[in-house]
Amino acid sequence: MKSLRVHLASRSYPIVVGRGAIRYALTLLRQRKHPVNTLCIVTTSIVRRLHGERFHQLLEHRGYPCKIVVIPDTESSKSITQYQRLLKHLILYRASSQSILIALGGGVVGDLVGFTAATFKRGIPYLQIPTTLLAQVDSAIGGKTAIDLPAGKNLVGAFYQPIGVISDTDCLGTLPTRQLRSGLAEVVKYGILGDPTLFRYVERHTDQLLSGTPEHLAWIVIRCAMAKARLVEQDEYDRRNIRMALNLGHTIGHAIEAAAAYSRRYDHGQAVAIGMVGAARLSQRLNLCSSSTVQRLTQLLRQLKLPIACPKVPPSSILAAMHHDKKFTSSGNRFVLPTRIGHVVIRSNIPDHMIHEVVCELAQAKPPRS
Ligand code: NAD
Repeated sequence: MKSLRVHLASRSYPIVVGRGAIRYALTLLRQRKHPVNTLCIVTTSIVRRLHGERFHQLLEHRGYPCKIVVIPDTESSKSITQYQRLLKHLILYRASSQSILIALGGGVVGDLVGFTAATFKRGIPYLQIPTTLLAQVDSAIGGKTAIDLPAGKNLVGAFYQPIGVISDTDCLGTLPTRQLRSGLAEVVKYGILGDPTLFRYVERHTDQLLSGTPEHLAWIVIRCAMAKARLVEQDEYDRRNIRMALNLGHTIGHAIEAAAAYSRRYDHGQAVAIGMVGAARLSQRLNLCSSSTVQRLTQLLRQLKLPIACPKVPPSSILAAMHHDKKFTSSGNRFVLPTRIGHVVIRSNIPDHMIHEVVCELAQAKPPRS
């Protein structure tokens, strides 16, 4: 098992990665200064069956009685409805600052639980136990929590750090291939934004990663967790354009998810893969990166069996959704653009016609008349 720390003064916490790491939850509970009065695991029915029951028993056998709340298994769980439902449970369980909410699941569970923990009684502790690759390499770390509104993703949220992140790589063994690929899109993102060695590693070990070989997965989870921890330490509240790099592929990606109405047609990682291709093409149009960088990226995404276009989504819906994005401020747009594998820049006010052209290319539709 490997462990590292996110250094954020009084909000610092450990990230523990490895096979069987879930047991580390007991150590964390033992280390709490005050006795824990309510433990509440929030999860989905699939994860409950695959990992939650065993974890629940482990806690109960060690003298930690805990409740389980199951939320529906889709992005639509990041909603005001599910938020309110969770709050009702917390009131029923008399949860307080001496309680711990445990997010056991993917990014959806993590984001909803984090936001609920941030706001219930002005903040109660929560623990992230991510069970998807995407959540282990990205969403569980860094304290960005949010729920969606019909107008767009993550429009209501808070920065609120967990008390720990436990990434048990054994959990990845039950992950459907589609979810594994989705997480690999975020791994590719880390490679492009600052880690050419990671990018090369993924290029060279595509087969092992796609077949879920534990040691290869553990290698990339640790590598990405370290990268994310360092970015978060430098820019916890996303105000210094450092953490912003993590949004590579997300401006267009989020819009694709919203335009496809958070359906399962394009899940988060797939939308990010298409968004990264869009960002690379924008960058190439602005003469910030070469065609060979765009080709290397699209080649790797193809190898990983990730989409590089979204032909069934109308470009007008993508563009409309983009205007609700937090990165589209009243003063203009903002994109993270790759300049080469391992380096990105942030650019604002990219001409609308260029964005339109790239979105039409991705949607394989005719470009607008200028
Ligand atoms: P998800 O949470 O929807 O999980 C995907 C599916 O996998 C679900 O059906 C889930 O039940 C199932 N699952 C989870 N673990 C499993 C396991 N071990 N075995 C089998 N099935 C399992 O999707 P995700 O890709 O993990 O997360 C996407 C969400 O993360 C999006 O809402 C996105 O906005 C958010 N996100 C947040 C941040 C952040 O910084 N907070 C960063 C990136 C993404």
